[in-house]
Amino acid sequence: MSHSSSADYDTIVVGAGPAGVMAALKAAERGSVLLVESAGLPRDKSCGGMLNEYAQAFLGQFAAVPDHVMLEPKHVNFRYWDWDRGVKKATGLRFLNVDRKLFDDWLLSLLPSNVTVTGSTALTGFTQDEHKVTCTLKNGTIQEVRCNNLVGADGARSQVRRSLGVENVATYVTLQDFVKLDGALEPFFDCIYMRNIGDCYAYSYIVPKDDVAIVGSVYYPKTKRPHEKQDQTMAILREALPQIGETVKREASVALYVRNRRDVVPARGRVLLAGEAGGFMSPTSGEGISYAMNSGLLAGEAIANGSGTSAGALYERSTSPITSNIRRKLIWLPFMESNWGKYLAGYVPTSIVSRVTEGL
Ligand SMILES: Cc1cc2nc3c(=O)[nH]c(=O)nc-3n(C[C@H](O)[C@H](O)[C@H](O)COP(=O)(O)OP(=O)(O)OC[C@H]3O[C@@H](n4cnc5c(N)ncnc54)[C@H](O)[C@@H]3O)c2cc1C
Repeated sequence: MSHSSSADYDTIVVGAGPAGVMAALKAAERGSVLLVESAGLPRDKSCGGMLNEYAQAFLGQFAAVPDHVMLEPKHVNFRYWDWDRGVKKATGLRFLNVDRKLFDDWLLSLLPSNVTVTGSTALTGFTQDEHKVTCTLKNGTIQEVRCNNLVGADGARSQVRRSLGVENVATYVTLQDFVKLDGALEPFFDCIYMRNIGDCYAYSYIVPKDDVAIVGSVYYPKTKRPHEKQDQTMAILREALPQIGETVKREASVALYVRNRRDVVPARGRVLLAGEAGGFMSPTSGEGISYAMNSGLLAGEAIANGSGTSAGALYERSTSPITSNIRRKLIWLPFMESNWGKYLAGYVPTSIVSRVTEGL
């Protein structure tokens, strides 16, 4: 459906991650879409590349995830590992193991022809009035482009969110070492809790990826000297797991540290926030791809069904189940993060650990 307006595009989406792509895909049902991404495309997002069952089921509506984006072992089950007590609990939670860069690039290939995608283009600011949003884009030169709706899907440090005057959510510090394998690892997505790194440490994870593995760690916001902490964590892991060979690449990034219901902000006027920009991410597991795709799709749907400020109102309503889901998880969080919670997980039967983690 098209409609007359003075806008250059019906919708501008900022950020070519899973939230941005899904928003663009649906908003394109109403009119033209410009999707801008500040990184070069295909983009490189630091990620474990674990697609949970919700993400897999969501994608099933559109297309089967192609083989070329999957890595070996294609499926891994989540295993809880209390490191200090040597307790491992394999759960029934099954993840698809993907190469994140190839996965994101495949998502982009799902977009219809009325979506214009431009890499190396950053949104630097915008203004909105009762008729339109005027965006300032930078791609070598500065350009002003108008639209009826703007979707901020620009991740944890969202410029769109900041420009709305909404404070960004605090962020975990994440480090991922890509290591050579000196021997096979067990085919699990291991999530490791250890106690002797210090209060700044949340958890580590290990997942085999073809002939390398990712050894990632998550540190609480404002952790000082995170690289030193990661060296310390790697040394402990290597001592017990000689299969972990030398690091070939290390990535540092951030992930949302959602702790408050007010961290979730879906819309302001004609501007909709999707994925991490809107605070949509699991506060308990750090899983973000299904939240990003889900909220992105709802943002696009709201625009397809009601342009301008009514899209924002529709989106507030349609995201309320996701917001409630995040709020429920926030209730669990203090227990999960406590030493008690971690201790107990080592004792309760595996079937219960499995059921509890499924809801996370
Ligand atoms: C180390 C790590 C491991 C993770 N592992 C997993 C996992 O295994 N499974 C899982 O489900 N989730 C995982 N997550 C979370 C998941 O990656 C994110 O939640 C998800 O990518 C969020 O999607 P998004 O579309 O909201 O934002 P993003 O994927 O972050 O995309 C935002 C995009 O916006 C662009 N951008 C930013 N500012 C601008 C601007 N001003 N102009 C234009 N473009 C801009 C960025 O370059 C970026 O490409 C992990 C996160 C981290 C950090």
